[in-house]
Amino acid sequence: MRPILELLPEELPGEGYRKAQIAHWLYARGALDFAEMTDLPKGLREALGKEWRISEFTLVEAYPSRDGSVKYLFTLLDGQRTEAVYMPYPNRKTVCLSSMVGCPAGCTFCATGALGFGRNLTAAEILAQILAIAHHQGLSPREIRNVVLMGMGEPLLNLGNVLKAIRTMLHPKGLAMSPRRITLSTVGIPKGIYRLAEEDLGVRLALSLHAPDDETRKKIIPTAERYPVAEILEAVRHYYARTKRRVTFEYTLLKGLNDHPWQARLLAGLLKGLSAHVNLIPFNPWEGAPVEGTPKAGILAFAETLRRLGVPTSIRWSRGRDVGAACGQLALKTPAPLTFTPLLEDAGR
Ligand code: SAH
Ligand code: SF4
Repeated sequence: MRPILELLPEELPGEGYRKAQIAHWLYARGALDFAEMTDLPKGLREALGKEWRISEFTLVEAYPSRDGSVKYLFTLLDGQRTEAVYMPYPNRKTVCLSSMVGCPAGCTFCATGALGFGRNLTAAEILAQILAIAHHQGLSPREIRNVVLMGMGEPLLNLGNVLKAIRTMLHPKGLAMSPRRITLSTVGIPKGIYRLAEEDLGVRLALSLHAPDDETRKKIIPTAERYPVAEILEAVRHYYARTKRRVTFEYTLLKGLNDHPWQARLLAGLLKGLSAHVNLIPFNPWEGAPVEGTPKAGILAFAETLRRLGVPTSIRWSRGRDVGAACGQLALKTPAPLTFTPLLEDAGR
């Protein structure tokens, strides 16, 4: 069976009107089975169900956090697993999606990095995360208005599939999302940033800088050996010039590594003229992590230095820490206490 989510709405099977009907069932109604598509002729429903599958998962497990976010663990058709996080806010519903199983980048502070690389996710597997979460939350997929590609994996190292998934998210007959509400977070792969700028989809870019100087950056981010800060910033400047989208710089504060006042000053200097925004992320601990987070007072002081130097700065207190759903904690671990909700078993197989 072939994955129907690989197709853009206009590529769906059938004539014009049928394509629109199927797209509506998939992306507005959240149908996970062709049998639900009751305004299609029965013969067509059966034929579709023989040729295509909708879900990409054999099992979906949900782990609700005390703060309202929910971590989802997906078992893919080949038995590999990946994760996503649902984060409801009073005025918006956000999902944090994965682009890979594991990650090849190996950042020392990241639990996904410690897992190593499994494989890239397909465009269908990326989109299916949104559909499964909407289904479990009793929402239309279109009610999920915000996407952050900040789960497992480095999206710019799987850019073809990520772009394909984003096209369906943006498509008016797909998830009809606004590009401003899709954020792609990268460890900093210059050629991927240039390609994203050329595509000019209008999505937001978040750059995981974590250190303003190459020496510190190399200690925590192996890809910094290949891509110096200057080269990454050059690419970001190009992205900004081309798309006029303000870039966010992510900075996880690690005790004694990247939290010195001189580093805050150097960072402020680097970002001059970039119309950038800094998002400080308190370190989210995980078992076996070789680094420690900066204590709260240090985080506030670092933020204050940046602000005094004119850099718009916010602090992102992560959600879902209690179930291992916060930034950098995704490592396919089942949190305790176990709240197990098997769903969609064998769906679409
Ligand atoms: N690979 C991409 C996207 C996934 S990581 C990237 O690196 O940007 C999403 C964000 O979480 C990144 O900014 C990453 O640096 C940050 N992060 C990773 N581990 C973390 C941890 N343990 N605590 C806080 N933030 C972490
Ligand atoms: Fe990969 Fe991002 Fe984690 Fe680094 S921080 S290992 S790039 S997921």
